[in-house]
Amino acid sequence: MSLPNCPKCNSEYVYEDGILLVCPECAYEWDPNEAAEEEGLVVLDSNGTRLSDGDSVTIVKNLKVKGASKDLKQGTRIKNIRLVEGNHNIDCKIDGFGAMKLKSEFVKKI
Ligand SMILES: [Zn+2]
Repeated sequence: MSLPNCPKCNSEYVYEDGILLVCPECAYEWDPNEAAEEEGLVVLDSNGTRLSDGDSVTIVKNLKVKGASKDLKQGTRIKNIRLVEGNHNIDCKIDGFGAMKLKSEFVKKI
């Protein structure tokens, strides 16, 4: 049975210490049973609802898009979002715009 990578630094050299898992590279310790529930990124929409990979959302305000000739309109539906780390934490494809990244604060889960 293999241990998970460190959730902080993604190190593969995690080892068990009692009920805890310990990362030798960043010294992070955690309880794997707790970690299982919090696994993945926590990305909240404009209402504070947690988003998941594969969710559908709508845009809650008109957004300017760099390099595009038109704005992203409020109410635009986006299917099958993917959560990513960073300031723009949603990866998606939008008809007429193609692949782009959005901030979760500008969307609402459908
Ligand atoms: Zn680590």
